[in-house]
Amino acid sequence: MFVSDSRLPDEDNVLAAFGRWRQLVPTARRLIVSPYDRFLSDAPGLRAGMAKGKYDAYLLMPRGARDEEFHHSVTELLSDWGWTATDPDVVVAKVVAPAGDPLAAEIRDFFDRMGLPSRVVLPDSEIGQHVAAHFSEDDGYPRVWAVNRDPLVVTSVRDVARSFFETTAERDLDATGDGTGVVDVAVVGGGPAGLATAVYAASEGLSTVVLDSSAIGGQAGTSSMIRNYLGFPRGVSGMRLAQRARNQALRFGTRFHTGWEVEELVAGVDGEPHLLRGVDFELAARTVVVASGVRYRSLGVPSVEALVGRGVNYGAAMSLSREMEDQDVVVVGGGNSAGQAAVHLARFARSVTIAVRRPALAETMSAYLVGEIEFNPRITVAPCTRVVDGGGDGRLEWLELEDTNLGTRARRPVGGLFLLLGAEPHCGWLPDVVARDERGFVLTGRDVPKDRWADGLPPDSLATSAPGIFAAGDVRAGSMKRVAAATGEGASVVPLVHAWLAPGEG
Ligand SMILES: Cc1cc2nc3c(=O)[nH]c(=O)nc-3n(C[C@H](O)[C@H](O)[C@H](O)COP(=O)(O)OP(=O)(O)OC[C@H]3O[C@@H](n4cnc5c(N)ncnc54)[C@H](O)[C@@H]3O)c2cc1C
Repeated sequence: MFVSDSRLPDEDNVLAAFGRWRQLVPTARRLIVSPYDRFLSDAPGLRAGMAKGKYDAYLLMPRGARDEEFHHSVTELLSDWGWTATDPDVVVAKVVAPAGDPLAAEIRDFFDRMGLPSRVVLPDSEIGQHVAAHFSEDDGYPRVWAVNRDPLVVTSVRDVARSFFETTAERDLDATGDGTGVVDVAVVGGGPAGLATAVYAASEGLSTVVLDSSAIGGQAGTSSMIRNYLGFPRGVSGMRLAQRARNQALRFGTRFHTGWEVEELVAGVDGEPHLLRGVDFELAARTVVVASGVRYRSLGVPSVEALVGRGVNYGAAMSLSREMEDQDVVVVGGGNSAGQAAVHLARFARSVTIAVRRPALAETMSAYLVGEIEFNPRITVAPCTRVVDGGGDGRLEWLELEDTNLGTRARRPVGGLFLLLGAEPHCGWLPDVVARDERGFVLTGRDVPKDRWADGLPPDSLATSAPGIFAAGDVRAGSMKRVAAATGEGASVVPLVHAWLAPGEG
């Protein structure tokens, strides 16, 4: 970590030095501290520098005998560095695979997201050879080895999830505690919405199980830095936020099953439990909370994907627009969300280019937005264009765009890329009795079509058309697609679950 006073006698050299340090040690955290009497006047300049990625944080110089805020922030930065930039000294799991094995990289990512220190090593490395003694020669790769576990040859992340995060004993244990085998709440999806549901449901004494096909944390778990979540002034890594929420839910007695993809929901009729089924499991639940989120269509350009959260953003990321001041920005997408994002970004950015594969926007965007875009001198539309490459020193600095008609490519400097390629809800497993909109998002409350209302009354705000089945977070039609909104809905759904389980009480 490099720490510098906000002003030095040779002031200009502070930022030059930060630039050099970044080149020398790209992973180091860089921190500026400002004395109290200058903090207020320094702050606007410091904020702008941070938005441009010149350093990772700026703090008030400690004044009193104990400045816990300062020390806590430094510890947080170092701890974040420890998770993201170094190989842990002590690892729980070793993944042995040939160089560049994509599954090994996915497994490492999964372990990271689950908070389990791991390392990927080559078969002919010292550790690789040591581990080989536990496998037979014919075993393929990746091989996963951990103390007190059977050696594992894996073909998917799911194999690892099932082996590491669920023991037979756990699976056979009666989660309900009442001997019925029916849990009070089954939450499908362990993203922010599912995690908040679990914390509130379990803390209020409901037997709660969370099923997730992948690592806990959902989309948020893939975000390197969430800057707009309440109470984290310097931002928080989505992975760490998810790990903390999972630990919180575990402490209240929630059971998590990772690697459990729900493939079918059979809605219970007349108060009978609902059944959730996957390849090799069936779970009965009095209520189900659908928190299975969305998947943004991916750009499919690995060099650009590698910079997600560092100049590359899925979604409009309105909170980042101020950081785009005086930058050249590219928005990819031809729908209304892309148009709105471009108009908003043009308030801050020097230029906004909308890259769209089609020859024009009119087919996919509302006429009023197309007009607004044509009128805005800062926005340019690049039709028949796709992003083919991108890169930068630690964050996005350039993109290569291809004109698909001519086949020509051009590289340009870029401060931000916003991908609005459309979100698809994870809903293929839901039965028809759960009403959805034309794009597949789950309808709740008054949005449920009237002919599906019971006794002429709309379902509760987060209740679906199927009694005892609720929805929270991004999967819900009209949701805000933000971490805070998803967690808020997860918390809000619990009183509705209570009311369903014990009508007339409370
Ligand atoms: C890269 C990135 C950066 C972001 N940055 C920000 C930010 O800075 N600020 C902000 O507010 N928001 C941000 N967002 C948006 C935010 O992460 C989402 O709004 C939020 O995660 C939605 O939470 P959710 O629980 O509804 O769904 P998700 O996070 O999508 O979680 C759904 C979970 O359900 C699981 N699942 C799906 N189908 C099944 C099934 N059939 N069976 C079992 N499990 C299933 C998935 O594996 C997933 O873990 C970002 C999103 C991305 C992708």
